[in-house]
Amino acid sequence: MDKELSKQYNPETTENKWYKTWEENKLFSGKISPEKTPYSIVIPPPNVTGILHMGHALNNTIQDILIRYKKMRGLETLWMPGTDHAGIATQNVVEKTLAKEKLKRQDLGREKFVERVWEWKQLYGATIINQLKKLGCACDWDRLRFTMDQDYSAAVTEVFVRLYEKKLIYQGYYIINWCPRCQTALSDEEASHIELEGNLYYLKYPLKDNPREFITVATTRPETMLGDTAVAVNPKDKRYKKYVGKCLVLPLVNRTIKIIADNTIDMQFGTGAVKVTPAHDPNDYALGKKYGLEFINVMTPDAKMNEAAQKYRGLDRFKAREEILDDLKTLNLLEKISPHKLSAGHCYRCNTIVEPYLSKQWFVKMKPLARPAISAVKKGQIKFHPERWTKVYLNWMDNIQDWCVSRQIWWGHRLPVYYCRNCQAKNPEKGIVVSRDKPEQCPKCGSADLTQDQDVLDTWFSSWLWPFATFYWPKDNADQKYFYPTATLVTAPEIIFFWVARMIMAGLEFKQAIPFKDVYIHGTVRDSQGKKMSKSLGNAIDPLEIIAEYGTDALRFSLISITSQGQDIYLSKERFEQGRNFANKIWNASRFILINLKPEEIRVDLCVYFKAEKLDTVNRWILSRFYATLDKVGRELDNFKFNEAANSLYSFFWHEFCDWYLELIKPQINQKQTQVVMYKVLEKYLRILHPFMPFISEEIWQRLPGAENSIMQQSWPHLQSELINRGDDLLMELSFEIINTIRNMRTELDVNPASRIDIQLAVTDKNTRKSLEILEPYIKNLAKVDNLTLTDKYSPQKNQYAVVFKNLHVVMPLEGVVDVGQQIKKIDLKVEKLKLEVKNKEAMLENKNFTARAPVEIVEGEREKLSQIREQIKKLEVIRNGLR
Ligand SMILES: [Zn+2]
Ligand SMILES: [Zn+2]
Repeated sequence: MDKELSKQYNPETTENKWYKTWEENKLFSGKISPEKTPYSIVIPPPNVTGILHMGHALNNTIQDILIRYKKMRGLETLWMPGTDHAGIATQNVVEKTLAKEKLKRQDLGREKFVERVWEWKQLYGATIINQLKKLGCACDWDRLRFTMDQDYSAAVTEVFVRLYEKKLIYQGYYIINWCPRCQTALSDEEASHIELEGNLYYLKYPLKDNPREFITVATTRPETMLGDTAVAVNPKDKRYKKYVGKCLVLPLVNRTIKIIADNTIDMQFGTGAVKVTPAHDPNDYALGKKYGLEFINVMTPDAKMNEAAQKYRGLDRFKAREEILDDLKTLNLLEKISPHKLSAGHCYRCNTIVEPYLSKQWFVKMKPLARPAISAVKKGQIKFHPERWTKVYLNWMDNIQDWCVSRQIWWGHRLPVYYCRNCQAKNPEKGIVVSRDKPEQCPKCGSADLTQDQDVLDTWFSSWLWPFATFYWPKDNADQKYFYPTATLVTAPEIIFFWVARMIMAGLEFKQAIPFKDVYIHGTVRDSQGKKMSKSLGNAIDPLEIIAEYGTDALRFSLISITSQGQDIYLSKERFEQGRNFANKIWNASRFILINLKPEEIRVDLCVYFKAEKLDTVNRWILSRFYATLDKVGRELDNFKFNEAANSLYSFFWHEFCDWYLELIKPQINQKQTQVVMYKVLEKYLRILHPFMPFISEEIWQRLPGAENSIMQQSWPHLQSELINRGDDLLMELSFEIINTIRNMRTELDVNPASRIDIQLAVTDKNTRKSLEILEPYIKNLAKVDNLTLTDKYSPQKNQYAVVFKNLHVVMPLEGVVDVGQQIKKIDLKVEKLKLEVKNKEAMLENKNFTARAPVEIVEGEREKLSQIREQIKKLEVIRNGLR
């Protein structure tokens, strides 16, 4: 390798080279090291169908920072990677590829279809893994897991059987969320509620014994009226008291239904009388059970009307709605339609409106599992960051509902449930065998005529075991003992219920131990307008494109530096320029240092050297600033304040190290102490930069004299807090302020930037004057000053320009530099011109014709300009007053 850094940083070659080296040298692998404290993270497994998006990039960059940081801190780290089989999503993807061959999964049959999915996984399943590698993720790839692996599947079965044996899993008929497109049940969490502009339809049902009298019911889903088996009113409702117990004739299907009274009925909603459809609504389901009503399902699984819908049979639910309304109108039974906002569940995989649907499913009883998971968080064994998520979690857990876990799809873990036909023939409720292995015969009757349940389990039923099933649970092993519980979980807010809460429950139930100690919830990536980034909206920024254009380190650094703790991220492509520019800055500064470095000068033990050697102010100052930064970055990382840590790294390097230090030391760069300090700061800085920008830090690290091993294997710099010196910091800040003031003075008077000038500093305070003596060489150097005179009093004289600043006067003698008379004339002329402009603008803004007619933003723009000009005049007047 070239010892010298190339003129320009090339992210692409650097990144590919180092990632390969790290992987080949097994630097990502976590081993049992009894003398070290373990620190493990399980990756939120991306869907096997996944393509890297900004959300992934953010989520995994944060995990990578933690892993690299903790490793440098001396912990034994392990980042467990894997992918999720993503039941519905993957099945949908493969069905789409089949559709191109004009095939449906039913044409292939279950076995062949599942084979196709595995083939698909073989071909495309590693896409997301390779993309995570491009992002620099230090995952232990030798441990890569997949939720459909044989061992993992065994864990899923084991959990199902154990819960069944504990009577925490049951089968039953309930109203569940049904996706007519995916043709499967969904859990409550999988049916995301979206507000829609709908209608409230008022339908008139005639009384049986007096067809001229009606009761009007209001509904948002009129097509379900075909399945009504009662009308309910509140017993306190005076309007309907006399009708309770009487019968109505359900229009269109001519079924006799009863009027019942129940105190759950809201008298304020609609007409106060509601239709009861026990097979199509969860509340009506409860009423149906309570009053022994008939359950009539009027739809097929693909949301078409079934034979119970009589003449509407075969129509799609929305088409049936239209026809039913038309028919009711003809019969004069549609009283009115009024607009109504309603919240409808949508399938989280395909966005179809879900149908509340009566069906036989498997459920997990959640309350008993939730109890210990609530207390673990209340006791602080698990902490959420930011803390506000604790409340969200506890709220949901307190109101937790049973979890519908069966899915009517083919891709996933088949339920370990078998039915004995012989036993079922006698009693349909009997004959269920739940077993870890396929039973040879029915344990009750000995029949071998057993069939396995057709359903598969909810994908989350496998992912809730992720923190321990990835370690081959239920097998006992040393890895699991060492690395479980894991340390930190990094995830997005939308899966707190789906995943985080359930993992806590599963950990406590099956491992009797929490799955992780800290949960860091990061924000959602949005576009600059605040819209969630999504492929369908077309506003997504592709992280791989950014990597190709700016480099991985730039992507990572930019993302992290704008992610304040737990807040959403507003992203535009330009934001990544900051990261790229920063990488270039680091590159150029390092190149400058390495070119000027004399390796024989820097071979010293820092602790000894600093004690023996009297360092000058600038070197003391940069060490002080470095250690203050080190201290800050460490604390910020420990508190999950990633953006603050990134910004501390940025401002130290860019402003203090490059803008000031490297400029100040140029005249003394060959001096031994400067060589030592400049090198040590760079070398230590690269280490603390490494978790954020792993590639560029490694590339430069390898060029350091005597660099051994990878930067990944280095330790986090030891904090020498005795070198943090606030006094030096203040002193140097004073010199920077003076230098900036002099630089401004030069620009204000158009002094040739190359020409050297004289400066007088007048300070009454004796101590400040003493300090300024120390700073003299720095000021002279950077402000291009020939003679710097320190005086104790400011005495105005002709031919000079003076600026007051804090308790000192900065005075620039102008003799031979600029012509004062001309300067004054120039300024006066400028001010005059500007004043005229002010007058014009004022007149314009006083003109009602203009302000009333012109667009608001134009008027506002003019006001803004006016105040800018006034500011400019003030500034010029200050300069004018400083001129003698
Ligand atoms: Zn769906
Ligand atoms: Zn049997």
